[in-house]
Amino acid sequence: MTALAGVPFFVRTFGCQMNELDSERIAGMLAEAGARKAGTLEESRLVIVNTCAVRQKSEEKLYSYLGRLRGWKRRRGGLIVVAGCVSQLERERIFERCPDIDLVAGPDNYDRLARLLAEGLTARTVLAGRVREWREDTRGTAFRESPASAFVTIMEGCDNFCSYCVVPFARGRAKYRPLGAILEEAGRLGEAGTREVQLLGQNVNTYRDPETGASFAALLERVDAIPGIEWIRFLTSHPRDLGPETVAAMAAARRVCRQIHLPLQAGATAVLARMNRGYTRQDYLDRVSQLRDRMPEIALSTDIIVGYPGETEAEFAETLTALETIGFASIFSFKYSPRPRTAAARLADDVPAEVKRRRLLEVQTLQEGIQTRYHRGFIGRTIRVLGAGPSRKDPRVHSGRSEGNLVVNFEAAGGVSGRFVRVEITSAGPYSLRGILTE
Ligand code: SAH
Ligand code: SF4
Repeated sequence: MTALAGVPFFVRTFGCQMNELDSERIAGMLAEAGARKAGTLEESRLVIVNTCAVRQKSEEKLYSYLGRLRGWKRRRGGLIVVAGCVSQLERERIFERCPDIDLVAGPDNYDRLARLLAEGLTARTVLAGRVREWREDTRGTAFRESPASAFVTIMEGCDNFCSYCVVPFARGRAKYRPLGAILEEAGRLGEAGTREVQLLGQNVNTYRDPETGASFAALLERVDAIPGIEWIRFLTSHPRDLGPETVAAMAAARRVCRQIHLPLQAGATAVLARMNRGYTRQDYLDRVSQLRDRMPEIALSTDIIVGYPGETEAEFAETLTALETIGFASIFSFKYSPRPRTAAARLADDVPAEVKRRRLLEVQTLQEGIQTRYHRGFIGRTIRVLGAGPSRKDPRVHSGRSEGNLVVNFEAAGGVSGRFVRVEITSAGPYSLRGILTE
């Protein structure tokens, strides 16, 4: 018996796909120690908050959630565990803002987190040690939310030090997972009925098998041969490191989706240089051409930051023209916010809040039009969709994703989650397609 036997736990995740997977791993390890997953926070007696530090806004959301947990703790007398990137960066300091927290654990410490809780926590603790090399034995078994689609880590951390980015400080230097372990996990998933795997890392294109030196292109080729897996995606790619070998491997693979997330960040070469991104506007446009030459249907998505220190109106206008020229299927766009320890934090955050807000709105308005046009191009076509589940509002309406990662809604009588279906597209808006099931 462990101290976790029968304890209902609840996990709240902020941030990226890496955090989503980490939450599933933590849930898996807690379940192995006897705890059980609760449906809601109110039913739980242990809450894990997995935090994101990438932007100031994500931290603000976290602190407001922690404020809400104060009442929960008083009512339920449960334990509050704070995991993730804020834990790694703030460590003990987090107790000053939130004295109710019982355990703080950074991303390299989740196996210890589960062990400590199983043994019974006796005092407030901080686990923020760093692991330099990949350690497969600390990975645990993930408690996956979706049977159809699974994230598989291939690397962690980042060595790029883009000027604005806190990730290298929160997640540490890049460490690569051995190819054998990746193939073993993906193979098991394929056997268990997973249809889609998403290979995860902060900069997947620099992947090198620590044992054999095999490249990311070689990894794609090997995953492509795993029985059962029908769709392979990967993120995130860095435009500087997406070489011709990877583009050729994508094009040659049968199951790698014609879709890629390739963060541009800004359209002006001068801003990219100040961001320490390592490519010019033209380099990025060349990458896009290489991808489209080999895979004409490929759907591109990107990340954009507006209001980086010193960004002039003329530089910002280059972001807008890049969006027009490239025609992304979707974008994530953010207002720059200074993050602790980054190079940009030493610069004056000199684009006024009002100007950042207006630039963000301009980006989003332009992109809405681009997306609507792009989506309307699918009307009348029948496309393959991986069903995800019914909508909360109307159980007859199901939602899924296309190969290009577009959201597709359609009516279905029975459950289609985890199944491939064909949908004839009948209408389209900026954020989704709508259609009818044809089989
Ligand atoms: N490794 C990925 C993800 C990094 S974080 C990559 O290289 O793209 C996800 C996105 O958050 C980044 O692409 C960037 O657009 C945004 N971001 C990171 N730091 C930021 C900051 N300080 N202010 C605003 N946006 C930021
Ligand atoms: Fe951050 Fe740049 Fe690394 Fe992405 S590549 S995680 S933006 S430092």
